[in-house]
Amino acid sequence: MMEQKRVSKLDRLSKDERQELLNRLHKAQNDLCYVCQEVINLQVHKTDVDHIVALARSGQDEESNWALTHDSCNRSKGTRDLQLQRILHEFRKHVQKYTEADAQGQDRNFTLDEALQELQPERQEIGATIKRDEINISWTQEGEPYTEKYLLLEEPANPPARSFIARIPFVCLHHDHDINPRSIVDLEPMIEEFYNGYPQLQPSLATLTIENDDGRAPILVFDGQHKAAAQLYARRERLFVRVFVNCSLDRLKETNYRAHTKLAQVHFPQLINDRVGADLFIEEFTRFLQVQELAKVSEDTFFGKHVPRIQKSEYKRYFGNFLRYEALTGTAGAEQNIILNFTETVMPRSIRYPLSYDTLQKTFLDVMLFHRAAREPIEQTERYRQTEKENLVRLMNIFVEEVLASGRFSLNLGIRRMEDRLTNDPQSIPDSHLRAYRLCRKPAMVVWVKELKRAIQLLLNTKTRYVHSSWGEKRPLTRLSEKL
Ligand SMILES: [Zn+2]
Repeated sequence: MMEQKRVSKLDRLSKDERQELLNRLHKAQNDLCYVCQEVINLQVHKTDVDHIVALARSGQDEESNWALTHDSCNRSKGTRDLQLQRILHEFRKHVQKYTEADAQGQDRNFTLDEALQELQPERQEIGATIKRDEINISWTQEGEPYTEKYLLLEEPANPPARSFIARIPFVCLHHDHDINPRSIVDLEPMIEEFYNGYPQLQPSLATLTIENDDGRAPILVFDGQHKAAAQLYARRERLFVRVFVNCSLDRLKETNYRAHTKLAQVHFPQLINDRVGADLFIEEFTRFLQVQELAKVSEDTFFGKHVPRIQKSEYKRYFGNFLRYEALTGTAGAEQNIILNFTETVMPRSIRYPLSYDTLQKTFLDVMLFHRAAREPIEQTERYRQTEKENLVRLMNIFVEEVLASGRFSLNLGIRRMEDRLTNDPQSIPDSHLRAYRLCRKPAMVVWVKELKRAIQLLLNTKTRYVHSSWGEKRPLTRLSEKL
């Protein structure tokens, strides 16, 4: 903000007056810091007093608008008022709570759902009735019943889609886990924008599926979750949303997937992308298997005969998503994959984890998995794929155990500016950590995983463990006998 900080009465207090003010605020705030809500000990902590609502935002220059904080909690004096800093602090705390509480890679997620749970715990489904081209929605808020009427807009999509545009109270909003279960990152600048009163330029998108008349149903937000969460934190009461009513969810899922891949609109964490693509593949593949004799069809038949030609390249992509997602998160025999515990799956760049999702994909997943559609009968292929998956999980787990686990790689040391830190103080980085870090750099890892593939190929070919010798190249981990 360009505005200069105005002179406040706070700056003109004498030393004694200031001390008395500190004591009064300390008592009024029950000894707690206004920003972080933790105890202030006046004998121990350095403190600060500032405006809750900035003068520039029409806050009063009065004691009722002043608050006491830890000096370290009032980080950007003048530009961000204390109310905003309290909100940002709260947001950081929530992210930390959900992303670090659990070391399991796949559970490390902070989504709109968690934000709503924290800030709007008493959410509800809405009542909805449709009459021709109008929809009535109703809900209750703080004991008061509300009813609003909106025009349903029709769109010549295939199949046809109807939607309405409204400002929906957060108390009626839910997170969509299915179409777009993405997590929320880097929200602070956006929270600040909304806090400072900038409007929401584009509506978020949601679905509403009404099973029966007079039915109650949740409004599920599947796009624009960042602006939704940012406004929730900025304490706005409603979100500007386009709500699709009784639409084909498959079609919306597909549309949304395309927006994030084909049209590459926004950063979409790859693991989430794989999950959504895998869902799309499984749905269609299951439909295909239901009407076929299993002995007579293959993955290849699915792509050649079942999938419409125009959608073939999309389904090939979903297939890749499916293979990766299965290998990473599906159960493979008795073994649970542990490599995700050391992989950044949320942020585009990691500072904590030795592997990025992209590295994992370009190495183990791309090099070791058979990505083409198999020609054998489905039942046989299923066994081969299961073997491949089990071996891949075993292989990745061996790598994790030998190189990363049991404190060999320390998540607290992380990977930030590793070479600088090493130059400054070679003793600060243990050898095992450095070795793990270097083995996990993408350029190195791509090379050694390919070498590893060659070694496996050579070994299994010599022992004639492949169905055809050519499988060593295409399906290095699909072997005949039980042991790798
Ligand atoms: Zn504090």
